[in-house]
Amino acid sequence: MQVAEKIQSLEHLSQVELVGALDKYLGAERRLLGCFILYLIEFDRRKIFRELGFSSSYQWMTSGLGLSESSAVRRTNAARIMVRFPHLAEKIFSKILNGQLSVMVLSMIFAHMNNENCVELIENISGKNRLEVEKFLANRIEGYHAMQSTRAWMRILPGPSKPSESSEISEISEVSEHSEASSQHVQNEVFFEAKSNQMPAPAAPATQVPGPAIRLAVTLVGEGARDLLRLRELYPYRDPSQIINDALGLMRKARDLPASRVPKAIQRQIFARDGNQCTFVSDDGRRCSERGRLQVDHILPVAKGGDDRAENLRLLCAAHNQLMAERHFGKDFMRDKVTSAKH
Ligand SMILES: [Zn+2]
Repeated sequence: MQVAEKIQSLEHLSQVELVGALDKYLGAERRLLGCFILYLIEFDRRKIFRELGFSSSYQWMTSGLGLSESSAVRRTNAARIMVRFPHLAEKIFSKILNGQLSVMVLSMIFAHMNNENCVELIENISGKNRLEVEKFLANRIEGYHAMQSTRAWMRILPGPSKPSESSEISEISEVSEHSEASSQHVQNEVFFEAKSNQMPAPAAPATQVPGPAIRLAVTLVGEGARDLLRLRELYPYRDPSQIINDALGLMRKARDLPASRVPKAIQRQIFARDGNQCTFVSDDGRRCSERGRLQVDHILPVAKGGDDRAENLRLLCAAHNQLMAERHFGKDFMRDKVTSAKH
């Protein structure tokens, strides 16, 4: 039956029948959503996205399933709440099914939940719409509005510079998507306008490689704002962009795996050869699209006799680097290694 005919055939339905049908379909939609989240928890726990050629469950939902970014974030946050607070999982699941909780309002409270307030927050947002939850959180969470304003925007500027071979920054916008209310202790809000032309131009580091230019606007609050002001006092000749640059460099170094023993020149060669993109290809031929947080991986691990020649090196994202390590050394071995590295 064609859609037009189907719609026409509904004309004879009584009001009760029509409302009943809509009610039935909405109930089915909620049940399916609840089940989707339960399955997503298991999918994420097993990291199945890696086998499918994605760097995260979020990437799989957006690029693989075609969900919108906000839909993927909401489902992810709802799943994370049920994992973090297992004693509430049963209640949250039944509230999703009976329509008292939506994944949207769950996502709104995700960043504000802790062991002390989780029960109270779930009770208080049940049955409320977005605006009501917004008002509740503004009254209940100290500094809520300031936290909301910490979202950054970024724009990659057009220009002659092409992405540098060693650049690993391409998904900053994703950070803002996931970093709702990162600070729990907001006390003040500081607006800082960068006026680099009023400061002496610092000498560019000799090793600096031309890369993409990004315009970034960010509101720092609390600790972050105090840190930036203090760093400005400590390094009066550095403009804010250099301070951010250095901070990003430190974060990148902190994430580097032992594979960074590979000389910089060879690393640059690998980034260029592999097109600044993870090289993992799933069984059905999908190449991982991750361009952020890339690591130079040894195809044959050093522990098994592999060397640092370009033929034995490839780019992998963090998720696929870990998957390859598990395939080489086993899951249990890698879990022990990660655990011991944390202590
Ligand atoms: Zn990957």
